Amino acid sequence: MNQKIQIMSPTLANQIAAGEVIERPASVVKELMENAIDASSTRIEVFVEEAGLKSIQVIDNGDGIASNEVLSAFERHATSKLLNDEELFRIRTLGFRGEALPSIASVSKLTIETAEDGQAGKRLVLNGGKVIENQTASSRKGTLIKVEDLFFNTPARLKYVKTLKTELSHISDTVSRLALAHPEISFKLVSDGTPVIKTVGNKDQIQAIAGIYGVETAKKMKDIQHSSFDFEVSGFVSLPELTRASNNYITLIVNGRYIKNYALNRAIVDGYGSSLMVGRYPLAVVNVRMDPLLLDVNVHPTKQQIRISNEKDLGELIKEAIAKRLSKETRIPNALENI
Ligand code: ADP
Ligand code: MG
Repeated sequence: MNQKIQIMSPTLANQIAAGEVIERPASVVKELMENAIDASSTRIEVFVEEAGLKSIQVIDNGDGIASNEVLSAFERHATSKLLNDEELFRIRTLGFRGEALPSIASVSKLTIETAEDGQAGKRLVLNGGKVIENQTASSRKGTLIKVEDLFFNTPARLKYVKTLKTELSHISDTVSRLALAHPEISFKLVSDGTPVIKTVGNKDQIQAIAGIYGVETAKKMKDIQHSSFDFEVSGFVSLPELTRASNNYITLIVNGRYIKNYALNRAIVDGYGSSLMVGRYPLAVVNVRMDPLLLDVNVHPTKQQIRISNEKDLGELIKEAIAKRLSKETRIPNALENI
């Protein structure tokens, strides 16, 4: 190897980043919805065709992007959310890496229409990351992004994509978790013309739960509330008689971000003590609020894993919150007391 060292082209760099951030159609849905949430939208609609492989469209009524900044939003590491290095330790937005838009654009055909309130809008069309159309557009406040032919230029990734049914279930899971985490926003998911998910967005988390798991299930869930010096825990959990065969119905939300954390999921199950049958898991939506200084979200490009200081204490608090609430509901007279 005696080739010269060179900086790779932005398109190639973006495709490599996409390899980490955009694993499947659901990753596009997640990143676009997170952007819509960060833009203070109150209504977010997601339309997919063929489980997102043909097209994914996310429409929001948020702040929009200034028409002279739309092109920069597609530059790698361009973000309006993180301005200096101190802010990395105080992240309050879902995004901060400035990678999603350039990554998605580099592996698809992407159209964006966006406008700030009362301003002329902008419409851009990109093909594999290259701008092929740039014009003024309607000034409807908010942003519409349509992603077509995902992975058309990365055949290896396209091959890795599973059946439409599997991909759609990932999409539906993504929308569900974000809807549970943001009951103040109304969400809609439509797949091949059929409505799949709808939440009202009236701030009430139990209403969001009703939208996702059905009214009957929501009615059976109990609210929890507990706090310590560092953490505030709230949410809704099912009684031990309402369970599922997988732990997929446990949603853990930290400062508005749905996260995956084995130890804390375990703490939720532990809150039930010995009242769950083997192989059964509760339904739970558990919110944690804490100072952003106590957590590190910059662990993985998809931002689903986070590091929490005093994670053990938080686990104990969650477990206690659930145990206390259940003991109130399921107090069975002690056999000895009846003698
Ligand atoms: P990040 O979210 O990490 O900042 P992205 O690549 O996802 O990076 O987005 C780049 C920028 O484009 C954002 O910082 C934001 O300013 C703007 N943006 C993206 N999507 C939207 C949207 N739906 N509404 C308003 N602004 C958006
Ligand atoms: Mg983003």
